[in-house]
Amino acid sequence: MSVWAVLAAAGSGERLGADRPKAFVRLGEQPLLAESLARLDASDWVDAIVVAAPPGWEEPAILLAEELGCGKVSACVTGGATRADSVRLGVAEVPADAAVVLVHDAARPLLDDAVVERVVTALGDGWDGAVPTLPIPDTVKRVDGEQVMETLRRDELRVVQTPQAFVADILRKALSGSDWTDCSAAVEAAGGRVRIVDGDPRLVKVTDAADLDRVTALL
Ligand code: C5P
Repeated sequence: MSVWAVLAAAGSGERLGADRPKAFVRLGEQPLLAESLARLDASDWVDAIVVAAPPGWEEPAILLAEELGCGKVSACVTGGATRADSVRLGVAEVPADAAVVLVHDAARPLLDDAVVERVVTALGDGWDGAVPTLPIPDTVKRVDGEQVMETLRRDELRVVQTPQAFVADILRKALSGSDWTDCSAAVEAAGGRVRIVDGDPRLVKVTDAADLDRVTALL
């Protein structure tokens, strides 16, 4: 069974206010991308990696992979205008005989191999996808303007992270659908069964400078 990872790293990272795309902002001594790339490459659960790089940053991404000795990187594609486009372009490089595709955001650098293991091993038994989740500590309400419309049942809600694992053929078909926010949503919309597994509080997503400080402290 071969597992291909698609690393979405093509975001501009405008909210970070840096002079370069988010994947190339410094985290410690290396670009942010280095952390998730090296961790995926070191994982026994991952056979090959496709990186979706920001336009114009393909060469630095390939050089970084070489510097880090990431021998599993099979392709580096130019990302698209949206995350969905970048994932589609990355998945297009995954060979037809791959069994599983693992989609991960470079914006979540602190990837523990136990999470990779949890999502990959959760597939099978009729499950088409598996996503890492965390419970929600706060009460969540649906609102319309200033008015509270509904208080949602907290035990039915989860925060969803990456990496997300999917049966390769099912993800491929689902991605051709139009409107989706994450890969799991595409698979759900296509009628797929997606299972939740435990996420990891350290899988913080870097969006702004404060997130970068938090992740740096956790390194
Ligand atoms: O922008 P945001 O942080 O939500 O992006 C989540 C992940 O998707 C990041 O790792 C980012 O690099 C990636 N992305 C992408 N292509 C885009 C936009 C975002 O690969 N066009």
